[in-house]
Amino acid sequence: SSPVHVVGGGLAGSEAAWQIASAGVPIVLHEMRPERGTEAHKTGDLAELVCSNSFRSDDAESNAVGVLHAEMRLGRSLIMEAADAHQVPAGGALAVDREGFAAAVTAALEAHPLIEIRREEVSGLPPEDWDSVILATGPLTSATLAEAIRGLTGEDALAFFDAIAPIVHFDSIDLETAWFQSRYDKAGPGGTGADYLNCPMDKDRYEAFVDALIAGDTTEFKDWEASTPYFDGCLPIEVMAARGRETLRHGPMKPVGLTNPHDPDVKPYAIVQLRQDNALGTLYNMVGFQTKLKYGAQVGVFRMIPGLENAEFARLGGLHRNTFLNSPKLLDGTLRLKADPRLRFAGQITGCEGYVESAAIGLLTGRLAAAERLGTPLVTPPVTTATGALLSHITGGHLADETGSGPRSFQPMNVNFGLFPPVEIVKPEGVKRFRGKEKARAKKLALARRALADFSAWLDGAAARTAAE
Ligand code: FAD
Repeated sequence: SSPVHVVGGGLAGSEAAWQIASAGVPIVLHEMRPERGTEAHKTGDLAELVCSNSFRSDDAESNAVGVLHAEMRLGRSLIMEAADAHQVPAGGALAVDREGFAAAVTAALEAHPLIEIRREEVSGLPPEDWDSVILATGPLTSATLAEAIRGLTGEDALAFFDAIAPIVHFDSIDLETAWFQSRYDKAGPGGTGADYLNCPMDKDRYEAFVDALIAGDTTEFKDWEASTPYFDGCLPIEVMAARGRETLRHGPMKPVGLTNPHDPDVKPYAIVQLRQDNALGTLYNMVGFQTKLKYGAQVGVFRMIPGLENAEFARLGGLHRNTFLNSPKLLDGTLRLKADPRLRFAGQITGCEGYVESAAIGLLTGRLAAAERLGTPLVTPPVTTATGALLSHITGGHLADETGSGPRSFQPMNVNFGLFPPVEIVKPEGVKRFRGKEKARAKKLALARRALADFSAWLDGAAARTAAE
């Protein structure tokens, strides 16, 4: 059969290529390095790690990225095989010797008889006669291709910077202090009039908060990031705070149209709003709080907010150069571009975040493209799996459209347990104390076990479907 074309030999493209070839389908992998570089890559190797050498926690019982590792190993991931073979000591994390890792991925792909590697930039939309294409060109997609994708999808559909507001686990928010209400009780499309969580501040708290924001340590933009224009209405919160002591009270922390039911007679001086971030209601994002503050500083400063004293963060804020699609709007449930279904996307450009997540979406996209070529039904892993939870974030678990908050509110995300549907846990027999930490640990374990069982079942189903053809 004619080959599937994979554009971009990074974490996602390398894994996608491997999965397609492993299914017996020929592929052509197009990678522009070393002919053309990016601002962050330094070598011509496939699957080069551009920064840290860590794949984060390898704990498949209490950490969502550890569960993703385990699912990928079950799916015979090349990225995981090379990572396991080139591990360096890193406590409970999986860290790798970056050169050995990338060399192993490159060698495996070069040696596969069904894979042809072309070192060339794909500088516009793929030619018409490529009938199945995976675009996995990453956060630093070359400008010519990015422009071509933008032409196909529309101005607002491809972002060049992320503007990441912190996301808080709902069950760590103090509801004795915070309350549900939309400004002026307005119910937008699909809303109830009580769609936001509000955290009130008096004047003293507000002043102290503004001081802490201004004093907080920030991460610098890299030179090449600073030269990319991006400030379209998404200034970092600390930059707004530094512009004037009243700026936040007139911006994202406006105290108008809201009444605190816990203390109706006192008008708050400022209010922080959180908006539901996933359909399950397990995650809430801090509206307008994109930031360049360092992670440690963010936790300290944001826990000063009344109601968030014990907040647990599913994601901290950030602003980076990052090319990514408004995927919930543009992609179908199997990662095909609705406007041109011969094109699939994989990796960070779809709106996941991180080496492991990018490779996991590469694994999934590769398997879907191979199944399509082989004429077997396209079945995606359920949302109870780490891969499925990530897919659901990418293709529509997010509420951007229903809340009417506009397409740009879709932002990249690492995998985390907040993306999984809740699981019922029962108190184990003979255990007296079953609260707080014990309960949280049991919950993670139950989510992890369900994920791995469901992922295995999904793989078995895919194998049975292929055998039936
Ligand atoms: P990439 O791994 O970047 O692969 C994309 C590939 O496509 C590249 O090889 C590129 O050369 C190629 N390409 C681009 N355009 C074209 C074209 N037109 N034609 C042909 N080839 C093309 N994640 C972490 O987990 N930990 C980190 O420490 C980390 N640090 C990061 C630091 C920076 C500066 C950046 C930008 C991102 C970082 N990330 C990190 C985020 C992300 O996980 C990685 O960027 C990851 O490599 C994304 O995988 P990917 O396959 O989507 O893209």
